[in-house]
Amino acid sequence: MKNIILNINGRSIQTVEGRTVLKAARENGIYIPTLCYHPRTKQAGKCRICVVEVEGLPGLRISCSLEAKENMVVLTNTERVLETRKMIVELYLSSGKHNCISCEANGRCELQEVTYRLGIEKSTFPVLTKDYPPDTSSPMIIRDLNKCIQCYRCIAGCNNIAVNEVLDMGFRGSNMTVVCDTNKPMGKSSCVICGECVQLCPTGALTEKKAFGKGRPWEIKKIKTTCPYCGVGCQVHLHVKDNEIVKVTGVEEVAPNYGSLCIKGRFGYDFVHSPERLKMPLLRKNGKFVEVSWDEALDFTASRLLEIKKARGPESIVGIGCARTTNENNYVMMKFMRAAVGTNNVDHCART
Ligand code: SF4
Ligand code: SF4
Ligand code: SF4
Repeated sequence: MKNIILNINGRSIQTVEGRTVLKAARENGIYIPTLCYHPRTKQAGKCRICVVEVEGLPGLRISCSLEAKENMVVLTNTERVLETRKMIVELYLSSGKHNCISCEANGRCELQEVTYRLGIEKSTFPVLTKDYPPDTSSPMIIRDLNKCIQCYRCIAGCNNIAVNEVLDMGFRGSNMTVVCDTNKPMGKSSCVICGECVQLCPTGALTEKKAFGKGRPWEIKKIKTTCPYCGVGCQVHLHVKDNEIVKVTGVEEVAPNYGSLCIKGRFGYDFVHSPERLKMPLLRKNGKFVEVSWDEALDFTASRLLEIKKARGPESIVGIGCARTTNENNYVMMKFMRAAVGTNNVDHCART
């Protein structure tokens, strides 16, 4: 790829041919706000808040879809640019119901962040009186369309990334809003509750039900780890408050999942704190399972394996590996079956 030089706010910036002005600016630490653009859903050109001035080009240009060119001169924070951004944000604020104090997205909302950065106290436009009741029909997701800015991120995520094709824009004019299938409640739609849309939503329009009221972003510690459910190894952030997992999100920057998760990985974390979780081995005694020490469980297992091997031969024993444990543990199990037990009867739960 050919390197090119352009000028942003008086600074000489090197980037590569084909890159957008937005990307070139961000790679060089120059702030341009966005609401509809997300690196995973790519340019949408919907919100128009990323406008910049370009020498020699008429009007303002949308930097998320403007290709950087050799010797281009770009200005990202002129009075005209800032006034335009302010007007766009004020229109967003007036066409929805935004009360940051009680909003679940407070502290992580991109609309709130842009409003703050632009120094907007309140919208100068009259607030529309539309009032959508919250859609709480999904077991895991709350939809509040009063906070939707029609950025299309959820639609792109559902249709192009998760490829579930549940979401689309419905209705017209000021009634335009995101719909599930043919405008069904989310819980009655074909939604598979992957949560891709929630992860991508820049506002409080889509939030995790189980995390509601469980803590503000600044109270929460994010711990990066690997999802325990299968062998894919999706990278997750555990959002932990007071030693309790209150939410799980996908890590966007890294393979293999780049932020996407399945329903189990994203929402199935209750087992971690379940009082019913097994913490000690169980051994059946007189027809009932009772908790025993690890020593007792391992001694019992070893003696039974020896008995069975002696009576019926090693081929009568089978080892099944587990998708929820590590490759190393599965390797040890395989080695144990082949070298210690003496059988090649080894399989894996992901194949059964
Ligand atoms: S969606 Fe964002 S701007 Fe709207 S109320 Fe919530 S935090 Fe505030
Ligand atoms: S949870 Fe997944 S399937 Fe359901 S609407 Fe969101 S992206 Fe689509
Ligand atoms: S629900 Fe969220 S992601 Fe979807 S269009 Fe509205 S603001 Fe954007």
